[in-house]
Amino acid sequence: MSKLISGKEVSLKVKNQVAEETAELKKQGITPGLAVIIVGNDPASRVYVNSKKKACAEVGFNSYEYALPEETTQEELLELVEKLNNDNNVNGILCQLPLPKHIEENAIINAIKAEKDVDAFHPFNVGKIMIGEYAFLPCTPAGVMELIDSTGVEISGKSCVVIGRSNIVGKPMAMLLLHRSGTVTICHSKTQNLQEICRNADILVAAVGRANFVTEDMVKDGAVVIDVGMNRLENGKLCGDVDFENVEKKASYITPVPGGVGPMTIAMLMKNTLTAAKMHNKLI
Ligand code: NAP
Repeated sequence: MSKLISGKEVSLKVKNQVAEETAELKKQGITPGLAVIIVGNDPASRVYVNSKKKACAEVGFNSYEYALPEETTQEELLELVEKLNNDNNVNGILCQLPLPKHIEENAIINAIKAEKDVDAFHPFNVGKIMIGEYAFLPCTPAGVMELIDSTGVEISGKSCVVIGRSNIVGKPMAMLLLHRSGTVTICHSKTQNLQEICRNADILVAAVGRANFVTEDMVKDGAVVIDVGMNRLENGKLCGDVDFENVEKKASYITPVPGGVGPMTIAMLMKNTLTAAKMHNKLI
């Protein structure tokens, strides 16, 4: 029987720390501000944006929401990004993905000033992560690192397997584990012997987007299992990529879905926005 890693608890610690530091900044007349842009009516995006606004209120930030209609053009969106780039009240800019198909996501990501790119998706920040000199870490992988660290398990020298190679989760996740001297293998849809590779993992991170993808027979006894997946079942229930019920019997530590990686992503966004506010005010 494994120990549950509570994303709720760990994220609360991160947010409390951010709130404390924000209270100090406010004494100097500085209030961090996060601008969140949402285009269209995607219900999942609306839920995420609401959670981000709520978290801003909890830690004492100003949040500015820009809810734009589905038919917004790329030019109009770029104009808004430019306006926010030049707005001194805004320290972080986040454009909720996915965007409608007629807007090129990369054009928007590239237009956000790197120093306000609190999602850490801009190529400049991605490059910084590669060389290990980052100001911002991408929120989900950074949150996973906090969760692993909360267990006290040492990463250095361990066999770490990441399933998934997206720019948002898999690739930066692998890089962060590598920076901490894990021996990292990245798996994807073309990987052969996936089950065997996973069975060798001391730390297994699943970021696939398929319910029950990671089964008991793919997990080493005593492994730390982190489930990034967020899958909506037909009955409306949210579940991860890991067959939690059975894998839990083998893992030493495991994250639940919901209540695992999800809350961490938002907490790390708050941390990045605080960092941005400090940078803009030349405090770091
Ligand atoms: P993505 O861009 O769709 O990437 C999925 C990855 O899984 C791809 O690299 C893909 O391989 C790989 N994959 C798919 N089928 C596979 C298979 N049969 N065997 C091995 N690998 C396979 O998704 P993402 O954005 O990284 O997100 C992954 C999951 O995490 C989703 O469920 C998403 O909702 C969730 N997520 C959660 C949070 C959070 O805050 N909790 C944040 C972000 C994402 P190929 O590259 O070869 O296609």
